Amino acid sequence: NVTHIYNFSAGPAVLPKEVLAQAAAEMLDWHGSGMSVMEMSHRGPEFISIYKAAERDLRELLAIPDNYKILFMQGGGLSQNALVPLNLVGHKPQPATIDFIHTGSWSGKSIKEAAKYANVNIAASSMTSVPPQSTWQLTPGAAYLHMCTNETIDGVEFDVDAGVPAVQPDVLLVADMSSHILSRRIDVSKYGVIFAGAQKNIGPAGLTIVIVRDDLLGKALPTCPSAFDFKLVADNDSMYNTPPTYGIYIAGLVFQWLKKNGGVAAMEERNIAKAKLLYAALDADDFYQTRVDAGSRSRMNIPFYLKDESRNDEFLAGAKARGLLQLKGHKSVGGMRASIYNAMPIEGVQALVDYLNEFAGRR
Ligand code: PMP
Repeated sequence: NVTHIYNFSAGPAVLPKEVLAQAAAEMLDWHGSGMSVMEMSHRGPEFISIYKAAERDLRELLAIPDNYKILFMQGGGLSQNALVPLNLVGHKPQPATIDFIHTGSWSGKSIKEAAKYANVNIAASSMTSVPPQSTWQLTPGAAYLHMCTNETIDGVEFDVDAGVPAVQPDVLLVADMSSHILSRRIDVSKYGVIFAGAQKNIGPAGLTIVIVRDDLLGKALPTCPSAFDFKLVADNDSMYNTPPTYGIYIAGLVFQWLKKNGGVAAMEERNIAKAKLLYAALDADDFYQTRVDAGSRSRMNIPFYLKDESRNDEFLAGAKARGLLQLKGHKSVGGMRASIYNAMPIEGVQALVDYLNEFAGRR
């Protein structure tokens, strides 16, 4: 008999129980308005207050400077692979070149998509570590440098505090932070654009957050769809068209939960402790294997393999019987993956560690 369910999905992923409970309590009648949030006009005072609070809280949580706009968009992380080039390459003579650091599946997809709009240069590449910056072959005059600072499938994470800011100041950085935004402190001022699909650390799928420095607005290619032109979206406070209102509401509740629980710095500490606990169990002997170099291991998404892969189904069935859900690795890489986002408590990681030890026959 399972007492707790722990959900290790890579996304859509676990959300704080308190947030779901509050959303349930407010489902039929939000704050005495007589309406569900889903039924409100995005231009009415009720929803505007929800939107403004979410915007303000996210700005506070990530210490986003005033010269950055926060856009609440639709389309998911993948749409940004097209929308970022469409919005940014216009400030360079055409055809422009975009530099990429290729560290896994998601940056790989970004490279493929960007090639429709610009020349692409893979400045450095490794699926098991963040290549040292001294090896990056950057293009002089490139439109920007794209990196996926946490590869959700491969488990490679940039040390965004120490690592990223060291590139030359004239290099415009674009980061796909879909799977680790809000999990650690970042210095937003080092980036031109940060984007993230919501369905990991923020809220439900269908909402995409874009943080863009305001001098980069208004340079979209003429072919950029209006509803996805960052300047039009920014000038209309993300209401050029109907934004994903319910997603923004849930994201706002998550932001309040984060603030109540010590903000991003406290999350980072918890996430370091959680990752340390899990990697220690994976490293204890060679029963389990990981493929990412120690210095580049993700704190959020932890792919691992049984040395004896013929026992994969048995491992997953045993995990499920103990309430440890969605541990199967991405189909492109196989094996297992534990995603331990902000809303995963350390007790969940401990429960997984206990199971890893038991399955490995460790005392
Ligand atoms: N980038 C990263 C880092 C992701 O993890 C994902 C989704 N897992 C995406 C992009 C794609 O996001 P979406 O499915 O929302 O388009």
